[in-house]
Amino acid sequence: MAVPRNRLSNSRKNTKRSHHAKKPKCVASCSNCNSPKLPHTICQSCGTYDDRKVIEVKS
Ligand SMILES: [Zn+2]
Repeated sequence: MAVPRNRLSNSRKNTKRSHHAKKPKCVASCSNCNSPKLPHTICQSCGTYDDRKVIEVKS
């Protein structure tokens, strides 16, 4: 197992972890029904993608 040669100071440790924060989830809106959806995915509420009906939505 690899063993670190030098102790990482609290400051260096926290600086290293400054990039670890979670970014807010990217949400696009459907062009057909305007409900929120993930980008590049089929809309789950109306079943369209790129203004085409792709899947049949129940109820
Ligand atoms: Zn939709």
